[in-house]
Amino acid sequence: MKCADCGEEILQKDPQKCPYCGSANLLSVKDIVPTVTAEIEKLKKAGKYEEAALKYEEIEMWDKAKEIRKLNMGKVSAISMECPHCGAAQPLASKNNEVTCKNCGKTYVIPKKVLELL
Ligand SMILES: [Zn+2]
Ligand SMILES: [Zn+2]
Repeated sequence: MKCADCGEEILQKDPQKCPYCGSANLLSVKDIVPTVTAEIEKLKKAGKYEEAALKYEEIEMWDKAKEIRKLNMGKVSAISMECPHCGAAQPLASKNNEVTCKNCGKTYVIPKKVLELL
């Protein structure tokens, strides 16, 4: 449940009124689903996957939230490589097959297979 007036989440099962502001204008999850899914579509278009996932959680669509987080992983997290000299991981920013470790300053070669994923 959510209060339509103050927007607070109400954790009680069957509240008569909002414990925060006293409003009787309460929204159940079902009431807000169409509004929220429309917002989610917009967030997805804008590439804001984490925000979209949070919205899905708001309307208790846990599977959808999970799905979208997977999308998010693929998009945002760059591939990172571990330095063979010191073990420090750093994200690969370019398709150069040689990388200089920011931690120890040594260079190492990125396997072709990894570069193909970029
Ligand atoms: Zn309220
Ligand atoms: Zn290193």
